[in-house]
Amino acid sequence: MAHYAAPMTKPLREHLASGEPSFSFEIFPSKLGANDPALWQTVRELEPLRPTFVSVTYGAGGSTQERTLDICRRIERETRMSSVGHLTCVDSSIDELRSVIRQYIDAGVRSVLALRGDPTAGPNTPWVTHPDGFTYAIQLVGLLREMGDFTIGVAAFPEKHPESPSLEHDGRVLAEKQRAGAHYAITQLFFRPVDYFALVDRAHAAGVTMPIIPGIMPVTNVAQIERFAALSGAEFPAALRERFDAVRDDDAAVRELGIDIAFDLCASLLQGGAPGLHFYTMNKSASTRRLFGRLVEAGLIRR
Ligand SMILES: Cc1cc2nc3c(=O)[nH]c(=O)nc-3n(C[C@H](O)[C@H](O)[C@H](O)COP(=O)(O)OP(=O)(O)OC[C@H]3O[C@@H](n4cnc5c(N)ncnc54)[C@H](O)[C@@H]3O)c2cc1C
Repeated sequence: MAHYAAPMTKPLREHLASGEPSFSFEIFPSKLGANDPALWQTVRELEPLRPTFVSVTYGAGGSTQERTLDICRRIERETRMSSVGHLTCVDSSIDELRSVIRQYIDAGVRSVLALRGDPTAGPNTPWVTHPDGFTYAIQLVGLLREMGDFTIGVAAFPEKHPESPSLEHDGRVLAEKQRAGAHYAITQLFFRPVDYFALVDRAHAAGVTMPIIPGIMPVTNVAQIERFAALSGAEFPAALRERFDAVRDDDAAVRELGIDIAFDLCASLLQGGAPGLHFYTMNKSASTRRLFGRLVEAGLIRR
């Protein structure tokens, strides 16, 4: 029977304020939503790692949105983990956003990642604001602040948001997000530690003090990661590409190399002072769990 189990970690805001690093996982709603046995198995496999939270992505359109809410609700009710629901401004009036936020409150979700979302026609196409909606994620942060006591996360971009005029502009936007009420940021995927640390320096120069958590995607499939990198404006470095090319016909070797490369990236980030890691799992936990286990073994994550 569904129940509200006591979460095994501190509330997110308390956790962030304590200065302890945050380790979290991102999943996305499959077509079967909260009742997808494969998705639910992934969620259960992540639970023993005691993540700070599991975040659930949000897409445009009614049924996708319901699936995000259902999965968050089920995580809150049936596991000892906390959920973070993503929310975007895509194709939504402010009234519609208010209604989704009320549903998050009813589902027991107190943490939201406030995003603008990608244009409906896809990344790298012009953004069109809904006639009664928002143009920037900052406005959604404001609405969340107005409607409840949410812990609010926002997006950050180590290699510049594709529509942004400059890296410095991105730094100023992040500072504005913090002033609007954001408590932390999670970055888009990237492959070079230097890009993350440069973002942190720019953000600090612009006045950002909130934690900026690096987003990590271990490579399990070269074609997929190249597609994601292209869509998000991240560069898949040629040197990495060559290492994967050497093993590209061997799926197991690709996954192994993906874990090795992600381990080195995570180690550099944590040793350089990153306030945690957010893992993009793509609903498959095997690589992420092995990576996590190696980081624990190396003493880089305390569990
Ligand atoms: C961790 C993470 C999770 C994500 N999850 C999802 C998801 O679940 N669903 C989804 O659809 N997408 C998701 N995305 C993608 C995200 O929605 C896109 O990258 C989107 O294009 C930008 O979102 P944003 O919240 O950064 O927007 P914004 O902060 O609004 O920025 C969009 C553009 O506007 C500019 N800008 C912002 N504010 C101002 C201002 N005040 N004045 C002038 N310019 C401004 C920025 O520089 C940027 O170029 C995620 C991204 C990340 C990093």
